[in-house]
Amino acid sequence: MEIMRAARNTIESIAPCGLNCTTCYAYQRSKNTCPGCRGESNTKPAYCHRCIIANCPSLAETASGYCYDCANFPCKRLKQLDRRYRLKYHTGLIQNLLDLKNMGPEAFQLREQQRYTCRNCGAWLCVHSNTCPECKAPFPGTLEINH
Ligand code: SF4
Ligand code: SF4
Ligand SMILES: [Zn+2]
Repeated sequence: MEIMRAARNTIESIAPCGLNCTTCYAYQRSKNTCPGCRGESNTKPAYCHRCIIANCPSLAETASGYCYDCANFPCKRLKQLDRRYRLKYHTGLIQNLLDLKNMGPEAFQLREQQRYTCRNCGAWLCVHSNTCPECKAPFPGTLEINH
């Protein structure tokens, strides 16, 4: 299941805030599967429908559809979400956005593929879990030091 979902891991699955939705527990679950931030479905959780970043008027004015293209980047709300993800899930959303901008979509996507593939069993990992969903090998997150 996780491997099939990973195969659909495309640049469109990166949310405007820098989160890779294919690594989200709601995207990976087998019931009420979320289509990701850029998809439309009533299985998307209410908190993501209401997301102030995804619904930000400034975002609609960006050429890329990512916060890194906004004049206010990184704004207070993005910094708050980034802080939460760094502390709780050991991934940096602002760093993801900067990497996406600097590396370009293809190289970024390749790196996502490498970062979220379990080195032990090849399953697709979840940003919200510190173990592999298949083999339970530890997954310490993707946060590099100094971010
Ligand atoms: S719940 Fe939110 S973060 Fe998770 S996959 Fe859906 S839109 Fe993305
Ligand atoms: S960085 Fe810009 S587009 Fe993104 S949430 Fe903040 S104000 Fe909106
Ligand atoms: Zn594994």
